[in-house]
Amino acid sequence: MLTDTHTHLHFDQYAADLPEVIERAYSAGVGKILTLGTDLSSCRQTIQIARRFDKIYAAVGIHPTDIFRSQSDDLPLIKDLASAENKVVAIGEIGLDLYWKEVPLQRQLPVFEKMLEIANDLDRPVVIHNRDAHPEMRSFFEKQGIDHLKGVMHSFSGSADDAQYYLSMGLHISFTGVITFKNYSELKVVKSVPVNRLLLETDSPFLTPVPKRGKRNEPAFVQYVALKLAEIYGIDLQEMKEITGLNAQKLFGW
Ligand SMILES: [Zn+2]
Repeated sequence: MLTDTHTHLHFDQYAADLPEVIERAYSAGVGKILTLGTDLSSCRQTIQIARRFDKIYAAVGIHPTDIFRSQSDDLPLIKDLASAENKVVAIGEIGLDLYWKEVPLQRQLPVFEKMLEIANDLDRPVVIHNRDAHPEMRSFFEKQGIDHLKGVMHSFSGSADDAQYYLSMGLHISFTGVITFKNYSELKVVKSVPVNRLLLETDSPFLTPVPKRGKRNEPAFVQYVALKLAEIYGIDLQEMKEITGLNAQKLFGW
């Protein structure tokens, strides 16, 4: 089954035509979609969307670049949202981001730590964002003695060594439409991930894959990510959809 394990359906880009976007995903064979909130108010919106559509599930968390609009009271409220709603299958999007430079690392780390603690308390997998912060994240895990995590490193952009490190912790790794871009040069990193730890995602509305590049991204386009991964791994497209679908099903329990 084709799955999109990472989208943000609450974004304004979908405000005018969300039902059509979802219908196109279903018609393309997408059987499950995980939509993620990035702060308290978008987490509430995300849950509303998951309640409205049967194949859509939610993740709640505070994204590192949204910390500046969050308050400390929001952290326990995220936990309440996750425990009260059975369509919340993961804690995310959480992580570290040193690309946008909006929030200093010292403010990101305690929020990330708290989000991991919530996931652990509720026994939910995590969806982790990491942009330009692999050394910092690895040293955080080492300092905290965190050597095992259930979840996924999404839109993976680290090195093959980073990939091996996260895989050894038990994490899955997912790739977006970036792997379809002409200038993508990390095929070796992709191939270093065993297929039983691989997940498909769009990260829509961003990172639109070829051949739709230049348009708004949407979950239906996860088919192009599947196609490219099947080509990279040299396996049948249908098999790629089935394996990654089962990986996602096992991880998120949907
Ligand atoms: Zn995201």
